[in-house]
Amino acid sequence: MPEDKTSKNGQAKVDFICAEEGCDGVVQFSLQDCSESNIQVLCPKCHKPYVFDHELRTKFGKLQKLIEVVREAEPILGDCCVSVDVPGGSVKVPYALLLTRLNTMLTLHVGGRSIDFHLWIQPSSPDTFR
Ligand SMILES: [Zn+2]
Repeated sequence: MPEDKTSKNGQAKVDFICAEEGCDGVVQFSLQDCSESNIQVLCPKCHKPYVFDHELRTKFGKLQKLIEVVREAEPILGDCCVSVDVPGGSVKVPYALLLTRLNTMLTLHVGGRSIDFHLWIQPSSPDTFR
């Protein structure tokens, strides 16, 4: 089966809005690819190349590890709930559901400006959230 290594642990994609003046292209890349090797990603709209420095790639690597740990804990997390207070009582929200529904945003300073990176995590198994 032609599965690449990113799908082994599920997908963790990162995207951000191109920093080029007047461009609103969405640059997307795989977190794992970027933390493991010095690849270049291109803006799909203006074709501006982005290369991530060592510091940034280290951060991506840490994020990737965090995601892997969360994935490993998925079977346990599936049984955990977060109690959220609402008017008139409280609602129990499965913890695993929170993790996937909240797309993490990370703001990093790149080349003198701050860029918001959106992290999109998908569950490793479609059975996790039924
Ligand atoms: Zn662009």
